[in-house]
Amino acid sequence: MSARKPSAVGTARGRLAPRLPVAALDAAATPAPEPVDPSTVEEIFRRFREASPAPVSDLKYTNPFTLLVAVVLSAQATDKGVNLATAGLFAAADSPAKMIDLGEDRVRHFIRTIGLFNTKAKNVVALSRILLEEHGGEVPSDLEALRVLPGVGIKTASVVLNVAFGVPRIAVDTHIFRVSNRIPLAVAGTTDKMQAKLEALVPEPYLLQAHHWLILHGRYVCKARKPDCPVCTIRDLCRFPDKTA
Ligand code: SF4
Repeated sequence: MSARKPSAVGTARGRLAPRLPVAALDAAATPAPEPVDPSTVEEIFRRFREASPAPVSDLKYTNPFTLLVAVVLSAQATDKGVNLATAGLFAAADSPAKMIDLGEDRVRHFIRTIGLFNTKAKNVVALSRILLEEHGGEVPSDLEALRVLPGVGIKTASVVLNVAFGVPRIAVDTHIFRVSNRIPLAVAGTTDKMQAKLEALVPEPYLLQAHHWLILHGRYVCKARKPDCPVCTIRDLCRFPDKTA
């Protein structure tokens, strides 16, 4: 998202609750340091907020339904690729009823440039049907109702709750998992465990936006292969033993 503030919604890069061994992310791996203390956590998020007061989504959407579909489509795809595909898709169908009318074949055609498009087309139509039949055509603002939709796991559900309904959930994708283990804000071996830890430790004033800030940080600064430690605004607070010079 070029001129716009980079965002964070496009978090669904993997399947539900993937197990991501910490050592696999930081192969150079020295023993993990102790997580930072609460006042340092506070300072880290204060700096994130100062750098990006109002982060927005890279994914384009017009309502909770199109947000849900965009996040489902973003699994193992780039936000840019998803936006290219959804421009046409959402012009043709921006509600569950219209998506069902459009049908699986035409949905597949719109999203054919995205990875796993066959399965995703099936899921998008199937979830639209459930939304129409069981939720009056609305996206529910309830984690359990969301996570049982086809193609939706706890991570996608958490993103939708956070972005569309202002629920302070921290959906953990590969960026958040890596960044949080490096600093470390917390040490966890799975994304689910990291989500639970982060939601418990991030101070309330930062909880709603924490998901966005951590993704921004992982996507643009604390990158997987070579973190940009020299320009990192929290370098002095981070305990990662293999910082770049
Ligand atoms: S100092 Fe380096 S490893 Fe630590 S958070 Fe910043 S970019 Fe990541």
